Amino acid sequence: MLAFASGFYSMPQDKNHSFDVIVVGSGASGGWACKRLAEAGLKVALLEAGRPQSDKNFTEHKPEFELKYRNKAPELIRKTRPVQIKFGVCNEYTYDWFVNDLEEPYTTPADKPFNWMGRLRMTGGRTNVWGRVSLRFSDWDFKSASLDGYGESWPLSYKDIEPYYDLVEKYVGITGSAEGLEHLPDGQFQPPVPLTCQEALFRNRVKEKLGRTIMPARSANLTKPINGRGPCHFCGPCERGCMTHSYFNSAFTTVADAVATGNCTLISNAMAYKVLMDADRNRTRGVLYVDRNTRQAREIYARVVILCAQSQESVRILLNSATPHYSNGLANSSGVLGHYLTAHVRSGGGSGEFPAFGAKPSLGGPKKPLGIYIARFRNLPNMPPYKKFLRGFGYEGESSTEFSWEAPGFGEAYKKALLEPRTRIGITGFGEVLPRWDNFVELDPYVKDVYGIPVLKIHMSDGENERAMIQDMGDSAGEMLEAAGARNIRTYAHPSAPRWALHEAGIARMGADPKNSVLNQFQQTHDVKNLFVMDASGFTSNPCQNPTLTIMALCVRSCDYLMSELKRDAI
Ligand SMILES: Cc1cc2nc3c(=O)[nH]c(=O)nc-3n(C[C@H](O)[C@H](O)[C@H](O)COP(=O)(O)OP(=O)(O)OC[C@H]3O[C@@H](n4cnc5c(N)ncnc54)[C@H](O)[C@@H]3O)c2cc1C
Ligand code: SF4
Repeated sequence: MLAFASGFYSMPQDKNHSFDVIVVGSGASGGWACKRLAEAGLKVALLEAGRPQSDKNFTEHKPEFELKYRNKAPELIRKTRPVQIKFGVCNEYTYDWFVNDLEEPYTTPADKPFNWMGRLRMTGGRTNVWGRVSLRFSDWDFKSASLDGYGESWPLSYKDIEPYYDLVEKYVGITGSAEGLEHLPDGQFQPPVPLTCQEALFRNRVKEKLGRTIMPARSANLTKPINGRGPCHFCGPCERGCMTHSYFNSAFTTVADAVATGNCTLISNAMAYKVLMDADRNRTRGVLYVDRNTRQAREIYARVVILCAQSQESVRILLNSATPHYSNGLANSSGVLGHYLTAHVRSGGGSGEFPAFGAKPSLGGPKKPLGIYIARFRNLPNMPPYKKFLRGFGYEGESSTEFSWEAPGFGEAYKKALLEPRTRIGITGFGEVLPRWDNFVELDPYVKDVYGIPVLKIHMSDGENERAMIQDMGDSAGEMLEAAGARNIRTYAHPSAPRWALHEAGIARMGADPKNSVLNQFQQTHDVKNLFVMDASGFTSNPCQNPTLTIMALCVRSCDYLMSELKRDAI
């Protein structure tokens, strides 16, 4: 499959189609689909609802005092982005990259509030602002259902995706350390960013006393130059862009490569509404979209359609594409489209103080854009099942050295006390959520967005398994901080309501059986052969590792399958 390297493939042009392929969405998945297909010679139209991204928009070096409101007037942003602002990456620097929540709303039942954040409207999608933690899944994830009996196993195994992890990691640039864990496989890493003294102490003591593995975060930040992108210079706020292109954002990597081939046409401000069907042949023939500037509807045609608009948005398009034959959503003969919504729980964790080891607080010093990752330690190979819940969680965390703002006193005494460093490590759990039928999305029959497109109603809440896991995230954080000798330990384990998410997956799941899944292992819909969904909608489960590396690797694998099918005229 990996034979589909650059320039290998040249498809005869079908004169009935302007393009070979339409890709909807230019984020993590869409960027890779465009790059893989355009570099192989296919003519690709990339429909992106957002504006073009540019280095001119990047403000990672701009101090707050140069902003009109000094980044201190969230109420102004809240007027148009009341949901997006709930996550700190939507701020005065970046707010106009995000969806206007009033123009493009969604709804929820009154008793199940859900914060759908990270809705970007720029080339690059969420990769503009993502946290960049990049972790592989293993067969403990792909085969989890056969190991513990809950849910469905994926229709593929680690060996199927491993070469694609390699390919994606080498291009994206992932810093990390090899740890030799079966359940968190090592990858093609760039040199790791060294741990701080506190992080190293934490790692060593937790390993020694509890046998758990703490490592430098595996992150899509460069420590060595690749493809004209410079190594990270530790300025800190990657979510505001990066002029040296040192973190992975599809806007200046995969999409730029695709467009540079001359085979990929980026159509910005193009809000896909529905997939157009040729009912007689049971084939898609293109996409109907709304130009966000003119509000005009337009049609575009191609031999294949690939949805990469982020899970909920892609499934919204499928639900809006219902036909008399597929009356409850396109490619939904199974009836599972929209169901089994999953998204990590992350409302348990803790923090504690560590010795400063000479570190001094600074307002303008270098800032590592990544910290530590604590690998999952529950329900693993060769250990008895944990009694309180199924599956597991990992932690993201970092150390920080701050001024002692809360020091007592005033005048000279306060000034002196203020400079005493407060050095802390904080860790937050990221836990797997079990796929459940009653966590789902549907179209709201009463509400449309400003373009006239019906919006989603999202039904999502935690179950017993998630609640028990969150409690353990808090308890285990305290246990590890204590083992490391931290002082003033604080832990927390809140119910994750209102439910919120950045890692949603699973609402058009993959499976071997078309009766209970929407996609096959190559993210091709079982029902309509020339329709694919290559974002996280297809995840059969949502392991605790962050999803994006797997989204990208699966997407490249599915593109290679698509090309082999086109070549033998099977699509
Ligand atoms: C703050 C934050 C931190 C995160 N941190 C991490 C992390 O550390 N590690 C990790 O693995 N993941 C992380 N994620 C998640 C990660 O960003 C996503 O998993 C990934 O970007 C999803 O890729 P995608 O291609 O499915 O969607 P996206 O990257 O969101 O791209 C979707 C694109 O589709 C466009 N679109 C949507 N609807 C339409 C439509 N109807 N028509 C046309 N275009 C449309 C959007 O404008 C967008 O550009 C984070 C996300 C956020 C928001
Ligand atoms: S911390 Fe590194 S990757 Fe992030 S914006 Fe600065 S240079 Fe770029």
